Amino acid sequence: MNVSVERSFAEQQDAADSLASLRAEFFIPQRERGGDSIYLCGHSLGLQPRGVARVLNEELQHWAELAVEGHFASPRPWLPYHEQLTNSLARLAGAQPLEVVAMNSLTVNLHLMFASFYRPRPGREAILVEQQAFPSDQYAVASQIEYHGFDPKTALIEIAPRAGEAVLRTEDICALIEREGQRIATVMLPGVQYLTGQRFDIEAITRCARRQGCTVGFDLAHAIGNVPLKLHDWDVDFAVWCSYKYLNAGPGAIGGCFVHERHARSVDLPRFAGWWGHDKQSRFQMPASFQPIPGAEGWQLSNPPILAAAPLLASLPLFDKAGIDQLRAKSLRLTAYLQWLLQAHLSNALTITTPSDPEARGCQLSIRLHRSAAEARAAFDALAAQGVFCDWREPDIIRVAPVPLYNSFLDVWQFVAALEQALQ
Ligand SMILES: *Cc1c(COP(=O)(O)O)cnc(C)c1O
Repeated sequence: MNVSVERSFAEQQDAADSLASLRAEFFIPQRERGGDSIYLCGHSLGLQPRGVARVLNEELQHWAELAVEGHFASPRPWLPYHEQLTNSLARLAGAQPLEVVAMNSLTVNLHLMFASFYRPRPGREAILVEQQAFPSDQYAVASQIEYHGFDPKTALIEIAPRAGEAVLRTEDICALIEREGQRIATVMLPGVQYLTGQRFDIEAITRCARRQGCTVGFDLAHAIGNVPLKLHDWDVDFAVWCSYKYLNAGPGAIGGCFVHERHARSVDLPRFAGWWGHDKQSRFQMPASFQPIPGAEGWQLSNPPILAAAPLLASLPLFDKAGIDQLRAKSLRLTAYLQWLLQAHLSNALTITTPSDPEARGCQLSIRLHRSAAEARAAFDALAAQGVFCDWREPDIIRVAPVPLYNSFLDVWQFVAALEQALQ
């Protein structure tokens, strides 16, 4: 494309964008003086689809009118409620419906997956994670190691980027797995890294890990709804995600989980069980022994939180309507445009730490300003004062995510103009 720095270029791109009408399906936070703010924070909390209030109100009404009967007699019975989400989630995860379930929240699901797939024994007790892992993931894996009676000091293997580099190389990850593989019980990495925006090569990493006999799982908090996934074909053992970032299901919304089909009927896999994971036919006969539902549903514990799941009924159809491949195609152009504008206007003032290879990233760019930490922070605050939502990570990273579902090329143009002003 013949890119130009003019605002009119952004407007032309929006006019030609077949997905542009999806923006109207979302509430865009308004600036104090009126008008849409520039919301580039979908990596933290996705915007609210306008359809959410309707489904939530319907559930409240079903509860008011039907009370306990709502489990069976509601137009969307609560008993099998999560099943309505399965097909859409399977499409986003690149999975068979049997392999996915909406349940709990991300960190809870991580622990449930570790209960089954992290089976350390002396000599093979290690977990491989990245050094920059999201704190909750760090705490979770360290506590798993301790729970099994091992010491995180020796059993937690952390991989860091090479000196002077911002992101990990797949070849380095695989070399480490080959070198240490016999010590590693489980490899646990992100699909898209929350801080750098790096997209991991899930397929290649899984192949290396499985060749060494490690189980392998991915945290897809920043990947699902952002980049296309093929978890089944890639042969991943398990994956977990939350739904309030790119899936736009609202704060604390129900999370999700993937368990590969080859584990679907492994009834003797150790797991933490609950009644909702038990065989649906005999669940209410309350038999004495637990008989897991085949597939990911067999890892459920409790009946699902209807009010935390309902927003997905408004959000997921938008993904189905647009198609994740079409969204990705727009996302590639939107983020390339952001990168191009930043380089055209501000190449001396900042470094983009996200990989420049579009295949090695999702929609997010992470920007490090060439300023003191205090000046960088002041520039970020000036952006916020202008009605620009992006996010600040200590010590000096600004994360910007143009989301193809609701962001426009004009948003990107306005962001770069605002950043330029904030840096003056
Ligand atoms: C957002 C995020 C989480 C959040 O965990 P919750 O259990 O949903 O609070 C965890 N890990 C990563 C990598 C995240 O980006």
